[in-house]
Amino acid sequence: MADRSFLSWPFFDDRHRELADSIEKWAEDNLGGIDHDNVDEACRVLVSQLGEAKFLHHTAIDPDNAASRLDVRSLCLIRETLARHDGLADFAFAMQGLGTGALSLFGSQGQKQSWLHKTRAGEALSAFALSEPQSGSDVANIELAATRDGVDYVLNGEKTWISNGGIADLYTLFARTGEGAGAKGISAFIVPADTPGLRIAERLETIAPHPLARLVFENCRIPASALIGAPGQGFRIAMSVLDVFRSTVAAAALGFARRALDEAVSRANGRHLFGAPMADLQMVQGHIADMALDIDAAALLVYRAAWLKDSGAERVSREAAMAKLYATDHAQNVIDKAVQIHGGDGVRKGSIVERLYREIRALRIYEGASDVQKIIIARHELARG
Ligand SMILES: Cc1cc2nc3c(=O)[nH]c(=O)nc-3n(C[C@H](O)[C@H](O)[C@H](O)COP(=O)(O)OP(=O)(O)OC[C@H]3O[C@@H](n4cnc5c(N)ncnc54)[C@H](O)[C@@H]3O)c2cc1C
Repeated sequence: MADRSFLSWPFFDDRHRELADSIEKWAEDNLGGIDHDNVDEACRVLVSQLGEAKFLHHTAIDPDNAASRLDVRSLCLIRETLARHDGLADFAFAMQGLGTGALSLFGSQGQKQSWLHKTRAGEALSAFALSEPQSGSDVANIELAATRDGVDYVLNGEKTWISNGGIADLYTLFARTGEGAGAKGISAFIVPADTPGLRIAERLETIAPHPLARLVFENCRIPASALIGAPGQGFRIAMSVLDVFRSTVAAAALGFARRALDEAVSRANGRHLFGAPMADLQMVQGHIADMALDIDAAALLVYRAAWLKDSGAERVSREAAMAKLYATDHAQNVIDKAVQIHGGDGVRKGSIVERLYREIRALRIYEGASDVQKIIIARHELARG
């Protein structure tokens, strides 16, 4: 049973503890038999179930309530719990938030009304389309062009590595509108998946499969009302969305790490080596101690960043970067140790730790690679001098 003592930390209110209990129960009751061989269908079903259970209400603001806001601690608690049970469930939940974050934070009332009721109910799937073949980390240099033509914009170019690509109903798209150079010339748009001129050019397979695609836009015409925020504001919108959701990636890594520790403890207690429980071996104890320490340190960073954001900080880039960098890199170490403690079974296809070993890797690359998080942290420190 995963350690849940962190829920008594002062970062949380009672509503968070209640939420942690309810998502735990839901995960135990619903996540036993996810079919990882058919990720498209599994994600559709998961989104529908998470919508029905109202957990998706946490992924976007309520368009009918002007006081509604995203609560990062709730997002983190749900992601951590889902990731501990099943990585695909975490993915399906997370994308509903990432794909609509720009609407929650910057959308017009009409845009929110058109889409957020559906995504919160699990009736529409969303995606966040920023990366391009030549600009992943180098976001300010994206090239996909949005050219103004009367009352429309016309989109031409490519996006790649788009999670939910192929199954999403709507794409939050970042495109070059040219108000200025680099980051100053990007705008954000909402693009329905069935818009003529948008096609799925390629589905991408990874070591931990989930729906992913390369998208091509050819003379794809969208109305100017699809613009989110003001022209030229796209880079700021993308960074603001990542400022909320980066801490939640860290929370997912934390969930994977907690599961790895649970599996390692159970293995060490259950297996006999050299005539005694494996847990009696001091080097195994050393691994377990390192894992527990990494997990608690990551949890402190994750929930500090989330609490800070929820407390009203406009930007938490430094704290979110620290949380993501530490939690994802150290989850990789924790999971590696769990694999080691499992011996041959640790690398056996289908074992839980083998799955975790594959699932953690991409979290150190997307939403800003670890190296990029270091740059964000260093810039903040250097600016203080
Ligand atoms: C599974 C998965 C899901 C994804 N989902 C989405 C999505 O939904 N939407 C979306 O828009 N994108 C998505 N991405 C894309 C992701 O954000 C990019 O892959 C990531 O930003 C890295 O970009 P790149 O792959 O072009 O690598 P590059 O930008 O070429 O970087 C390669 C490596 O260089 C290093 N590096 C980069 N910059 C620096 C620097 N300044 N200093 C030092 N080292 C550096 C890092 O180690 C980095 O991993 C996803 C990617 C993956 C793998």
